[in-house]
Amino acid sequence: RAKQRGRDTYHCFDPDLDQALQVRQERRRRFAQAIDGDELRLHYQPQVDMASGEVVGVEALVRWQHPQEGLLAPGQFLPDIAGTSLEVDLGEWVLSQALCQLQAWREAGITLPVSVNISPAHLLQEAFPERLAVLLEGNPQVPARLLNLEVLETAAMHDVDTAMAVIRRCQTLGVHVAIDDFGTGFSSLTYLRQLPVDLIKIDKSFVRDMLTDPGDMAIIESIIYMANRFDRAMLAEGVESLEHARALFRVGCTLAQGFGIARPMPATHVPKWLDEWPLRQEWADLQRPIDGSHLV
Ligand code: C2E
Ligand code: MG
Ligand code: MG
Ligand code: MG
Repeated sequence: RAKQRGRDTYHCFDPDLDQALQVRQERRRRFAQAIDGDELRLHYQPQVDMASGEVVGVEALVRWQHPQEGLLAPGQFLPDIAGTSLEVDLGEWVLSQALCQLQAWREAGITLPVSVNISPAHLLQEAFPERLAVLLEGNPQVPARLLNLEVLETAAMHDVDTAMAVIRRCQTLGVHVAIDDFGTGFSSLTYLRQLPVDLIKIDKSFVRDMLTDPGDMAIIESIIYMANRFDRAMLAEGVESLEHARALFRVGCTLAQGFGIARPMPATHVPKWLDEWPLRQEWADLQRPIDGSHLV
């Protein structure tokens, strides 16, 4: 039996490790059931242009409605499936679910771009663009341009040549591609130049402390400067307050997403939120001059 397990043989001599492995295996089995058993949900978080007040899209974020444990966030189950084929199964589910939702919104007269997070294992599959094309063909009423793929900076860096080729082929289909958690991958400069992405998402870790940490502010300003030089759009994630929004606005980043604008919500809540958003005066005020001259 030890022989069958090949390189994992040493686990036989470490009962704790063996048990940890079994727990992980069990969690994976359970997650596979969750995909098939309709226990996953997508919540949607708005993305707005603070300069115009326009809602430019929503990001789909997966949750697991666990029958015993309640609503689980991605951080509570994604680590267990990292690097396994379950990431691909999840990605397929998320893509088809998001396309269904896009279609349903369009039928309700709502044209709203949807961003989905694509895991590294999924994106870097050679066949990914073909699979994506099949899914798009299955939803002929949904224009491909309404779908955005969010790709982690670290994923793109892992195998730049493949990532570049795959991203280009996806863009040929008409979908947009964003680079997620930008600034956390340590090689940002080079990759920004090479990767043909449409949007850069500034990681929320820099946004969080930008008001108090001059270092984080400097990083944000550098990202904005680079994005402009390379002619890429940029969006700040983790915008938790109006103060963050104002500071971002001032340094030239007007696309924003964060709890200060809206928390991720079930699809059924989105139409109501879209109706109410233009009425939120404090955010509308952002569009007025911010140099203080209107105050004198
Ligand atoms: P992400 O793609 O960077 O998504 C943004 C995360 O930040 C979300 O967490 C969102 O709820 C959270 N967030 C949004 N605004 C704020 C804010 O103002 N402050 C703070 N502190 N957080 C904010 P969530 O939903 O827990 O997702 C975490 C990560 O899990 C995502 O980060 C993404 O990398 C991954 N993920 C989520 N859904 C999927 C999915 O369908 N597929 C894959 N492969 N990964 C996913
Ligand atoms: Mg994302
Ligand atoms: Mg992110
Ligand atoms: Mg993140």
